[in-house]
Amino acid sequence: MVIVRFAPSPTGYLHLGNLRTALLNWLCARQQKGKFYLRFDDTDMQRSKKIFVDQIIRDFEMLNLTLDGIYKQSCRQDRYEKTFNELLEKKCIYSCYETVEELEIKRKKLHLKGLPPIYDRASLHLSQEEKNAYENQGRKPYYRFLLHSNDVQWDDGIRGLQKISLKTLSDPVIRREDGSFLYTFTSVVDDVDLGITHIIRGEDHVTNTAVQIDMFHRIKGVAPHFSHHNLLVSSTGEGLSKRLSSLSIKELLENNFEPDTLSNYVTYIGSAHAPDPKLTLSDMVDNFSLSRYSRSSAHTNIENIRSLNAQKIQFLSDDEVVLRLKQNGYFSEDALAIWQVVKGNCIVFNDMFDMLNIIKGTIETVIDDSDYCQKAIQALPEQPWDTKSFKQWTHNISSLTGYKGKALFMPLRLALTGKESGPELSSIFPFMDKAIIIERLSGKKN
Ligand code: GLU
Repeated sequence: MVIVRFAPSPTGYLHLGNLRTALLNWLCARQQKGKFYLRFDDTDMQRSKKIFVDQIIRDFEMLNLTLDGIYKQSCRQDRYEKTFNELLEKKCIYSCYETVEELEIKRKKLHLKGLPPIYDRASLHLSQEEKNAYENQGRKPYYRFLLHSNDVQWDDGIRGLQKISLKTLSDPVIRREDGSFLYTFTSVVDDVDLGITHIIRGEDHVTNTAVQIDMFHRIKGVAPHFSHHNLLVSSTGEGLSKRLSSLSIKELLENNFEPDTLSNYVTYIGSAHAPDPKLTLSDMVDNFSLSRYSRSSAHTNIENIRSLNAQKIQFLSDDEVVLRLKQNGYFSEDALAIWQVVKGNCIVFNDMFDMLNIIKGTIETVIDDSDYCQKAIQALPEQPWDTKSFKQWTHNISSLTGYKGKALFMPLRLALTGKESGPELSSIFPFMDKAIIIERLSGKKN
């Protein structure tokens, strides 16, 4: 069975790039009838916060991305300890004593010689006496994982055959002086314990993968199948980052973007399949394929998300529209008919509430020329009104005032809607109450 996981560090809110990784894993799991776990990489106690854990779980609920299990690295300390001791026993891990400053000097020396900053394994060759001497000076050991010296090769689900020589990498530090473990190690222990079969993550992890495959081989004998997707960047090309508070999923949902718009956008942008507003989450499960992802990073753009959302809401069913209107206290007999004429002016569904306020509720009117507006009142046609009534009204106004075009329409728009742009006046006019129109043209606050 396919078992995948999404493993955010809860040090900030999820952004579009994080959601892309989550979606690719989730879609893969659901298509293969496998399992999808959410794992919090919360070993950094300083920066990990409960508020982010809670929000990430809420994001998944809002996006209708079901979970088959939630795990936290902070609760798995004993597992890391046990595996650490086993590896130590097998001499796959060694203690080190260099200070940060000493390591920096080593790196600078290598740099001056034009060599890559690879750790020289000086601590690997320390005798027990030398180690004792360091400890007597008050130094505490930290630990590195002893990499093999072969090439690591894997058939990446997106990038094809990948080969990295372990000789070109430093033995990774897996445990700090204070006893805390680092992600490179804890992640492998978790993936082994949870039986993870496939790891899909951003291409910023390619080098980690070589190291982690070596760890998988030492701990379990086999490694999961890896795929590295291209990254999403901002519209100006910078990497998305929780710390730089790139547009968060929380914010986008609070701004009433449809959950499926966000899922659709992050899944298809930068792939051979353009975002498609018609697709539901279950369509996306059906046509999911890792093979269509490109290698170059994809630029995100809020305007594209807005436009995708505007298209997406055109496909809402009548039942869904009625439900949402009822839930928000906006339902009326003519509400569905109104939706049909104004939906093209909506970016998010909640814009419909503004439209209903314009048509039936309370707005700030804008009166530039009150004489003109009084004439417009006189020119109102008799009720009942139909689709031709607005034309008749403007014809009457034109006859009374001699105004035409923008000069005729803009004062009406400002008085009736309070805005310079918006839905076609001719389409909303038949739904408006004559008393409200008269009040607005008279400049009363309504
Ligand atoms: N916590 C890591 C990250 O957010 C997880 C990477 C992985 O998928 O292994 O980058």
